[in-house]
Amino acid sequence: MNKPSTITVPCPQCKTELVWDTNNPFRPFCSDTCKNHDLIAWANEEHNIPGDSLHDDVLSRDLEQDY
Ligand SMILES: [Zn+2]
Repeated sequence: MNKPSTITVPCPQCKTELVWDTNNPFRPFCSDTCKNHDLIAWANEEHNIPGDSLHDDVLSRDLEQDY
């Protein structure tokens, strides 16, 4: 059986289309740089109050419906 055409996925960090490769240790990122960048952003978010951004999200969604 032939494999389907190559799957490409955008890097969550820099949006670069990369070929999905199970051998890529940085999946789903394109590189070590992007992977670390995401970890840093994730770590920074931990300093915020958990759930606060979710609350803001609900509020802004209500506002959008009003307009
Ligand atoms: Zn990237």
